[in-house]
Amino acid sequence: MLRTPWSLMRMVLLVSLWLATVCNLPLWLALWHLPDVSGLRGALFGLVFSLMIASAIIAVSAGMTWRWTARIWLSLLVVVAAFSTHYMRTYGIVVDTPMVTNVLQTDWRESRDQLSWRLAWTVAWISGPALWVIWRVPLKRISLVRQCLHNLALFAGGLIACVLLTVAVFQDFSSLMRNHTQLRYLINPLNAVYALGEIAFLPTQRDRRLHPLGEDARIVADPKAEAPLFLLVVGETARSGNFSLNGYARNTNPQLAQENVQSFRNVMACGTSTAASLPCMFSHLGKEAFEARQHDSENLLDVLQRAGYAVFWLDNQSGCKGLCNRIPHTNTSELKHPRLCSGGECLDEIMLERLPSLIDELPAERRAKGTVVVLHPMGSHGPAYSRRSPPAFKAFQPECTSKTLSDCRREEVVNAYDNSIVYTDHVLAELIGWLKKQNHRPTGLLYIADHGESLGENNLYLHGLPYAIAPEVQKKVPLITWFSPAFSQQRSLNMSCVAGLRDQAWRHDHLFHTMLGLMQVETSAYQASLDMFRTCR
Ligand SMILES: [Zn+2]
Repeated sequence: MLRTPWSLMRMVLLVSLWLATVCNLPLWLALWHLPDVSGLRGALFGLVFSLMIASAIIAVSAGMTWRWTARIWLSLLVVVAAFSTHYMRTYGIVVDTPMVTNVLQTDWRESRDQLSWRLAWTVAWISGPALWVIWRVPLKRISLVRQCLHNLALFAGGLIACVLLTVAVFQDFSSLMRNHTQLRYLINPLNAVYALGEIAFLPTQRDRRLHPLGEDARIVADPKAEAPLFLLVVGETARSGNFSLNGYARNTNPQLAQENVQSFRNVMACGTSTAASLPCMFSHLGKEAFEARQHDSENLLDVLQRAGYAVFWLDNQSGCKGLCNRIPHTNTSELKHPRLCSGGECLDEIMLERLPSLIDELPAERRAKGTVVVLHPMGSHGPAYSRRSPPAFKAFQPECTSKTLSDCRREEVVNAYDNSIVYTDHVLAELIGWLKKQNHRPTGLLYIADHGESLGENNLYLHGLPYAIAPEVQKKVPLITWFSPAFSQQRSLNMSCVAGLRDQAWRHDHLFHTMLGLMQVETSAYQASLDMFRTCR
């Protein structure tokens, strides 16, 4: 058989299949141990997943498939994958960019003790057969033009196959990747190729020092005026369109509808994930400048604190993404409240439970000027939407109770999601109720979500798609405000003017400047043109 010369194309196809299957042993073992994909459906998913990996490798390799480079390139992929397999199996590591950076910076004289017989054996059996084929099989000689056509076919074929296969299993695939993000770093050798590409092509690291912001910030209020208390609620995974306040056909806002709230229906998020949106929405820069920034700056909370306010971050979720590093903060999600907490997670009402005593612990001289508390609820964090609402708020039935959305019918997913909005409605109404009890103190609340969510439209679930291609439901977020009469009076806010702003186009970009305006902070970092309520004062 080996007397017959192979075309390069055939070699690439075969080696890619070897890479996708044998060289991904840790990935298949990890998948095998997950409850998400099991049985026949799991096996089928595994098969499609391995073909996806193979076609991606084929597409990536197309540019290297030349007589003089193909053997070296394929050998590199096989050897890198074999080494990765060994380290994944032995140390449980994954191959991501920091890991590859570390490897590249390793002094190999110092790491000789890591070389073991076990390593040699793993590398030998995983890469040996493929290397033998790569170097021993004679190759067909074809013209450069034909080789170009072959490579074009490899690239286009690999790409198209990868896309089609992904679409075919997108539901399982997206929920799997989101539930277990570490899986993507197990995909050999694409994990290493990706990391090397990122190291080679990303611009040199930004200036990592934190630049101060709003050093001239001060509160411009009558010193005799009563100190305000403001709650900024950063919602999680809330779609604007699923709020009945914004026109949703289902009654998801039974309680807020009774309150004197303003709901802004046309607000676009900065990103499609918590990690992308949060730092951007608290920045003074706005989306475009934030993404192009050369260095990191302090954020809204630093400026409010510098102006003199008592500022506090109360988290019932995965943390503040560095935003609260310089202000007092605490996390409630680990509490063991008998009614509100279970399994290491708490329902969002836990925050109101803790709020009064936590505020009392803030420095008195700051509280005398005013208090701003950021609440970071669990909101509608997926995919386990049903866990975001207690039984009393499950208005829509039946509910999807599986973590794997693809196990449920779409209506059940939407029901579980809408119930989480009904509960968010309750939590916000409770907060407003509590603010109302603060005697004549000026109080206010601003609720804005970090990003939206896909609930099965076009077979898309969850969120986090690249902004340019993400559907609007992942980017359009609710923004709801409530101001006590004392608060709007103190700020001379014309509330019918505010109500008139509800259909205007707003963005996360407006949050920083709107908050400074509401809190009467004067600073060079403030831009009046991005303050939503400037024209209403
Ligand atoms: Zn989020």
